[in-house]
Amino acid sequence: MDPECFLRPEVSLSDESAAAARFTNTAQDRQNCRVSAADFDYLKVIGTGSFGEVLLAKYKENNRYYAIKVLKKRIILKKEAEGNVMCERNVLVKTLNHPFLVRLHFSFQTKERLCLVLDYASGGEVDLKPENILLNSEGHVVLTDFGLCKEGIVGRATTKTFCGTPEYLAPEVLQQQEYDRTVDWWGLGAVLHEMLYGLPPFYSADRIKMLGNIIYQPLVLEAGVSKTGKDFLKRLLNKDRSKRLGAKHDMDEIKRHAFFSSIHWDDLVAKKIPPPFVPTVTGPDDLTNINPAFTRLPVPEFTDVCEEAGLTFPDFSYISATSY
Ligand code: ATP
Repeated sequence: MDPECFLRPEVSLSDESAAAARFTNTAQDRQNCRVSAADFDYLKVIGTGSFGEVLLAKYKENNRYYAIKVLKKRIILKKEAEGNVMCERNVLVKTLNHPFLVRLHFSFQTKERLCLVLDYASGGEVDLKPENILLNSEGHVVLTDFGLCKEGIVGRATTKTFCGTPEYLAPEVLQQQEYDRTVDWWGLGAVLHEMLYGLPPFYSADRIKMLGNIIYQPLVLEAGVSKTGKDFLKRLLNKDRSKRLGAKHDMDEIKRHAFFSSIHWDDLVAKKIPPPFVPTVTGPDDLTNINPAFTRLPVPEFTDVCEEAGLTFPDFSYISATSY
């Protein structure tokens, strides 16, 4: 999903974040190497991803807890994913003040690793599969992982890059046809289907079969979901992207659907609507909502030296103006 499209970048691009983004790349900043691997105590593994672990860490400067996403350069280069990683970092910098996107505080690199220092979302994952939808300690949603997002798809622009988790991909992406922002509305439908029914739409344990189902099989919605919910899903999961909900007026069409009739959008963005589920969290470093399969893993050691402006990722490092 393209978070910029999904949750209106205009809201998040404040002057502060724009200034912060500019602050990132000053030569002064790069020389100083002001935040480095040695500034943190690494406490636990709280997740694993394609390029390395996500660690709970304490910043020695202010004793605050952060989630540090560690990406191993060797694996990034092997998978030729330099562009994806820089895209993830850029989107995080651009969406700094968004209420429901994970907040980046710093990024730095060592000789062997890239590190993104993020808010720790201690409330755990929403569901088994949508593991990139986390909850913070108050129960508000925090979206993470923009590694496969596409920057700059505005208006009716299209692209052909094949990326994303197959379960949530629109038929036009699977068929390697041109696609546009409406793939995100399909993605929303797929995640909502999983939340309402327990499985993504067109699901089959046989991956190839599932891909075929997404492209060719008509959508069947079983009982157990309200008429409005089914109508919303049907419109989002329209295989014809020109007829999909959101194709004409983007987010406005989504917001106007009866499924959201009880939502006051300004209150939602201002986090004034109490979350329906508040996780039990005892403190900023609480790990009870994190899968023990991760927390049991050994915490890797950073023995390699800080490298402020690496050759392969020269513009990776970043310091938020407000994170000291
Ligand atoms: P993928 O293989 O899905 O591409 P990835 O390498 O992009 O993964 P993430 O999905 O960003 O890595 O992170 C892996 C896991 O770490 C997440 O599913 C989540 O459980 C956990 N995690 C990531 N960021 C945070 C955070 N800010 N707070 C708490 N847990 C997090």
